[in-house]
Amino acid sequence: MTQVYNFSSGPAMLPVEVLRRAEQELTNWHGLGTSVMEISHRSKEFIQVAEEAEKDFRDLLKIPANYKVLFCHGGARAQFAAIPGNLLGAAKSADYIDGGYWAHSAIKEAEKYCSPNTIDVKTTRDGKRAILPMREWQLSNDAAYVHFCPNETIDGIAIDEQPDFGDKVVVADYSSTILSRPIDVSRYGVIYAGAQKNIGPAGLTLVIVREDLLGKAHSYVPSILDYKVLAENDSMFNTPPTFAWYLSGLVFKWLKEKGGVADMDKQNQAKADLLYGVIDRSDFYRNDVAAENRSRMNVPFQLADAALDKVFLEESLKAGLHALKGHRVVGGMRASIYNAMPLEGVKALTDFMVDFERRHG
Ligand code: PMP
Repeated sequence: MTQVYNFSSGPAMLPVEVLRRAEQELTNWHGLGTSVMEISHRSKEFIQVAEEAEKDFRDLLKIPANYKVLFCHGGARAQFAAIPGNLLGAAKSADYIDGGYWAHSAIKEAEKYCSPNTIDVKTTRDGKRAILPMREWQLSNDAAYVHFCPNETIDGIAIDEQPDFGDKVVVADYSSTILSRPIDVSRYGVIYAGAQKNIGPAGLTLVIVREDLLGKAHSYVPSILDYKVLAENDSMFNTPPTFAWYLSGLVFKWLKEKGGVADMDKQNQAKADLLYGVIDRSDFYRNDVAAENRSRMNVPFQLADAALDKVFLEESLKAGLHALKGHRVVGGMRASIYNAMPLEGVKALTDFMVDFERRHG
């Protein structure tokens, strides 16, 4: 089989070594004569998998001991509701930074539970889309927390600055950038991420929550979204997505073997430099995000002649470069290059782009 590179934004490419391992042990996991999907989440075998996955995740992100890690259902969108439900307390409002599509979606959900104070940080710099630096964010005094999205998967915009807002509770949707670079977890109250981009299969959502924030959930919050209930039950208040948890655990081991998050950081920089370099060196391709806010995970780009989009997608697919179609609200192309995408995959894409330009430019 020829090598296929999958640039899907999520569910996204997984490391092939992890898939092979899962394949090998699929029908006879740990000598039990059954798959990991078919055993109780409370069995000692699964508990060991669950605990190891949590430990590896903690090691990778250097999560301090006063934070709980929760393995949840419902995707990041469930967290859009869980955040206000768990953190508002007596407050009526929270600060919501609006930097793009997903931050905006979180605001829409929060409106059901409070009056979010929306802070639009979108701007332009040298004619390109950009985000205001954090020191210019006008935060309010009575907000229960500040919510932002460090990587906008659709817009291809990133906020790489780490927050430094004193004792404010900072909440971040890390769905499309978790584990791609080191972060200082201690600056956050809650970090959450759907698994299906940089962690593992869809169906699992990871939440990292500072312990002092537990126990404030409103009575309307469903028990399966109540952080305290989840923490007290080791994320097994109800049946967790066991296969996704197991497979994510294999991804964490793979990451550790590859040198961890620090190493991923370097590789992700190299991949992004290569791709943006080819885009910037030509008039045939265009990315309209200012350099300091460019996402290293999701790279949207346009062809100067949109009439060629269809041909580009057809030919790239034939060349084994999959899922390059941009999100429907943006159009054009988008290459998602998460941790599992090797440098060779991005090289194959840029070689194709250069050749495509030579033939059609
Ligand atoms: N936030 C971000 C940054 C995302 O990229 C996505 C999914 N693409 C979501 C939230 C929604 O995630 P889910 O589908 O897991 O609810």
